[in-house]
Amino acid sequence: MNLNIAWLYPKQMSTYGDRGNIITLVKRCRWRNIDVNIDEIDLGDKIDSKKYDLYFFGGGQDRSQIKVSEDLQKIKRGDLVRAADEDAVFLSICGGYQLLGHYYQPSHGNKLEGVGILDVVTRASNTRMIGNLVIKANKDFIRNKFNPLTLVGFENHSGKTYLGKKASPLGLVEKGFGNNGEDKTEGAVQRNVFGCYLHGPLLPKNPHFADLLIKTALSKRFGDVELKNLKDSEELLAHDAAIQRSRSV
Ligand code: GLN
Repeated sequence: MNLNIAWLYPKQMSTYGDRGNIITLVKRCRWRNIDVNIDEIDLGDKIDSKKYDLYFFGGGQDRSQIKVSEDLQKIKRGDLVRAADEDAVFLSICGGYQLLGHYYQPSHGNKLEGVGILDVVTRASNTRMIGNLVIKANKDFIRNKFNPLTLVGFENHSGKTYLGKKASPLGLVEKGFGNNGEDKTEGAVQRNVFGCYLHGPLLPKNPHFADLLIKTALSKRFGDVELKNLKDSEELLAHDAAIQRSRSV
């Protein structure tokens, strides 16, 4: 069994250590003797949408998002839409999340067109939403055991994201701002496309979410795979510590 991962724009979109999500996916596969191939997809690169099981798209500042948005519209949008339609898994964080939606309107300049595989829109605000973020995951998308039900991380964005009818929230905010600091939603899920504002990086402290993504991505080619359990005591201690820390401020 093997997993093929496309890492979108690692040079432009990997703020706050989001590359740690790639490291976690690789480790959690290799610890299970699952081969992993990572292709770094840069500005100007074409994508073979048949090749990849999972796409990772990290966060980035407005100026990076301008270049990336142009590249998405010129070169990659069609293949990414095809990949999502064929149930590839996407994990997108913050700026990457915003650009998988319909658009991101920065506080200055033109609207940045997105890929549109998440039915969300984002508009910059005067509020900088920064801090620890704890959510309770939305049961609708949890196909298998998902324990704990919480997801933890930190957020740093001015963009406010609003979900359309085709997208479900990844979860509901227990601590922090989430999508917009107004409707208590955080993140978005549509088919196998996941987006959220959880930096950290997200996956090391949320091993149960990492495994959900791996299992879902593998199932496209290998059917309903059962992943061998890993000893996640340290990861879950970090998860709980993050929750405690969020409650102490
Ligand atoms: N530039 C976007 C915002 O501020 C995304 C920032 C990020 O990716 N951390 O909302």
